[in-house]
Amino acid sequence: MQKKEDGEVDKVFVTGCLSERYKPDLQKEIPNVDQYFGTTELPSLLKALGADYKHELIGERLTTTPKNYAYLKIAEGCDRPCSFCAIPLMRGKHKSTPIEDLVIEAEKLAANGVKELVLIAQDLTYYGLDLYKKRNLAELLENLVKVDGIEWIRLHYAFPTGFPMDVLEVMNREPKVCNYLDIPLQHISDDILKSMRRGTTKEKTTKLLKAFRKEVPHMTIRTTLIVGYPGETEEHYQELKEWVREMRFERLGCFTYSHEENTHAFNLVDDVPRRGKATAC
Ligand code: SF4
Repeated sequence: MQKKEDGEVDKVFVTGCLSERYKPDLQKEIPNVDQYFGTTELPSLLKALGADYKHELIGERLTTTPKNYAYLKIAEGCDRPCSFCAIPLMRGKHKSTPIEDLVIEAEKLAANGVKELVLIAQDLTYYGLDLYKKRNLAELLENLVKVDGIEWIRLHYAFPTGFPMDVLEVMNREPKVCNYLDIPLQHISDDILKSMRRGTTKEKTTKLLKAFRKEVPHMTIRTTLIVGYPGETEEHYQELKEWVREMRFERLGCFTYSHEENTHAFNLVDDVPRRGKATAC
């Protein structure tokens, strides 16, 4: 805002999740922002900038990552009901981007020197269900490996429930698809998984991970976990720790539970003390 006051910047627009969720509050608290836009208001933002939504611009990107890699967002939004998560409130229902548009985007990125694509979405494994009426991540990968210049494709943010196993075949067959999977699992105790509304159990998750290790030898598996979820007891936490030891993840991140308003879990009592959560991580 300082740059605007100094006359160096003409207008300040704010866009993204925060603006989607808290627009009226932000308008009150920071009134000198010219306009706030939600996550689906790109056309209005372009209009405010006097720009045009041209078809030829599909796939054009200004990347902020190092030149060798880029994130490729294959879908927006999420249809899952995870109790702790506010993302569907801000990003809306799952909407897959068509394969042909993603191939165009990948080609343009490759032409700009990108060698590695990191595929992302709120829920990567749901890809295609809305658009093609089937989970279509494997077919998307088969199309992306044909893009000249792309040498590595890495999968992030896979959801365990309904994981499309044909992806593992493509991973084995196509050298460009890294033997790497980021799959946030959040917890393993059945009590907590049920309360989190993850649609899976300890037994099913363990079976899935064993299938990964069997089908794709030397696969690198990365996961993220939440500790301090409402109702989590010492036993639940010890069960999680024991299971992590057993599964031997190559990479693991741990987050403390955050009580988000308007989520299902917000109705529960946030009963694990903050210090306990932090120590557990
Ligand atoms: S945690 Fe992930 S899968 Fe679950 S609702 Fe949030 S974005 Fe969707």
